[in-house]
Amino acid sequence: MDKLKILFAASEAFPFAKSGGLGDVIGSLPKAFPPDQTDVRVIIPKYGSIPDEYTKDFQPVDVFYVRIGEMDQYAGILKYKKDNVIYYFIDNEHYFNRPDLYGYYDEAERYIFFCRAVLECIPYIDFYPDILHAHDWQTALIPYLLKEQYQWHYQNTKSVFTIHNIKYQGVYGFKDISGTLNLDYFPTTMEFYKDVNFMKGALYSADLVTTVSPSYAEEIKDPYYGEGLDGVIRDVSYKEVGILNGIDDREYNPQNDPHIWSNFSYSYAKKMENKRALQDHLNLPVDNNKPIIAMISRLVEQKGLDLIAAVIHEILQMDIQFVVLGTGDPAYENMLREVAYTYPDKMRSCITFDEDLSRKIYAGSDMFLMPSKFEPCGLSQLIAMRYGCIPIVRETGGLKDTVHYFNSTTGEGNGFSFATYNAHDMLFTIQRAVGLFYEQRDQWKVLTTNACKSDFNWKNSADTYLYYYKKITGKLV
Ligand code: ADP
Repeated sequence: MDKLKILFAASEAFPFAKSGGLGDVIGSLPKAFPPDQTDVRVIIPKYGSIPDEYTKDFQPVDVFYVRIGEMDQYAGILKYKKDNVIYYFIDNEHYFNRPDLYGYYDEAERYIFFCRAVLECIPYIDFYPDILHAHDWQTALIPYLLKEQYQWHYQNTKSVFTIHNIKYQGVYGFKDISGTLNLDYFPTTMEFYKDVNFMKGALYSADLVTTVSPSYAEEIKDPYYGEGLDGVIRDVSYKEVGILNGIDDREYNPQNDPHIWSNFSYSYAKKMENKRALQDHLNLPVDNNKPIIAMISRLVEQKGLDLIAAVIHEILQMDIQFVVLGTGDPAYENMLREVAYTYPDKMRSCITFDEDLSRKIYAGSDMFLMPSKFEPCGLSQLIAMRYGCIPIVRETGGLKDTVHYFNSTTGEGNGFSFATYNAHDMLFTIQRAVGLFYEQRDQWKVLTTNACKSDFNWKNSADTYLYYYKKITGKLV
C-alpha cells in the first residue's frame, strides 16, 4: 500500500523556531507517525533566527514567485532532514529575516505570503500530499485557499486544521488586507463582525478540525472559552475532534538531558542534586527541605497571572522558594521583578526566554504552578511531570485531561488541581501540596514517581491522527 503523504504547515517548529507549545508539537509529532505507513513532511518560514548550526546544512530546492498585491514576491525553498523527517523552509528575506518570529506591523501579509507559498511550492518539491495539515491562524488561510482556489490543482488533497489556541484567530480589517489577500470578493466564510477572520475560514473549509485535548474540544463550544467562535465550533462539531498532545520523550528525558546537572530517572536523591544545584545557581539558600515552586510560562492573563498577582504575598508567607521563568506582559514582568526584590531569600524572577534554564528548573523544582484561565493542552505540565516536578493546575482543557489529584490514601494521582478560577482556591491547593511535602515525605516520593511515570508520549495521539487522516481520505480499511 502507498504511504499516506502528509504535509504539516506551521509558523514554528522546534528546534528551528519556537515561541511556545506549537513549536514543540510541530517539532515532535511528525516523527511519531509510523514510517512504514506515512511520509510526513513539515514546512515553515525560514526565519532569520534559525540557528546557524542548522541553516549551514540547508539545501536549496528551487525558487518561485508568489503574487502578493501587485508584486511577485520571491520564495526560495530550502530543505533539511532531521530524525528522518524532511523539513522545508520558505525563504523571503523581507518577510522572515527579522529578529523575532512574531509581532510585526505586517503580520497578516507575512502569513498570507506564507500560506500561498505553501500551496504554490507543491509542484517544486514534488510532494503532492494526501493531507495538508495546517496549524493555528498563521496557516489558516491554507484550507480556505485549497478549497476555493486550488482544488483543481490538488484534487486528491484533504485539509486538516488544528486549533492550538482559539484566542489567536488572525482578525484583520478587510480593507486593510484586501490589497495583499488577492481575493476580489469578501469571503463570507471568513467574515467576522465585518472583519476577516482567518481561523473562521479554516474551520469552515477544512475537511477535519482538531484541537489539542478532548476537554478543550468541548469547552470551545461555550462562549466563555470560544473567543467569539463558539457558534462556529458548534456548527462544525460534526467534523471536530480533540486529540491530546504528547511530548517528545527523547528530547525531554531527564535520563540524558544535557542541560541538567544530574541525570536521573526515578531517583529522588538524584533529583535533589538538581535541586541543590538550582538553588546554588539562582543564589537561593541551598536546602533540600524547602519546596521549590516553579512557573515557566508566557506571562499573560491566559496563564493565570492575575491569580498569582492577587495572592503572591500570601504564597510567599509559606516556607517555600518560588522561581519564575517567563516573558510577556510588561505589567506582570515588573510585578514579578518587584516581588522577587522584596523576598531575596525566597523568590527569583528570571524574565527571559531560556531553554537551558527551563530544563534546569523543571529538574530542580518540586512543584510546577500552572493556574491557567484556559489551556488548550499545555505541554509545560507534561514536561514538569517527566522531570518529577508536581503540577498544581486549574482544571481546564488539557490540564484537566492530564493532571489527576493525588490521593495520599491510595497513592494514586500525579498532581494537584482546583476547579474554580479563583485566587484563594489556588492558594488553598498550593497549601495542600506544600502540606504533603512537609508532612508526608514518603507519599510525596510516591507522587513524584507517579508523575515521572505518567505516559504522555506521542504514539497514541499519532495513531489517532492517522485514523482520522485515513477516514477523510477514504483509506480506512
Ligand atoms: P503555550 O504554548 O501556551 O505557551 P505550553 O505549555 O503548551 O504553553 O508550552 C510552553 C512551552 O514553552 C514549554 O515547552 C515551556 O517549557 C516553554 N517555555 C515557556 N516560557 C519559557 C521561557 N521563558 N523560557 C524557556 N521555555 C519557555
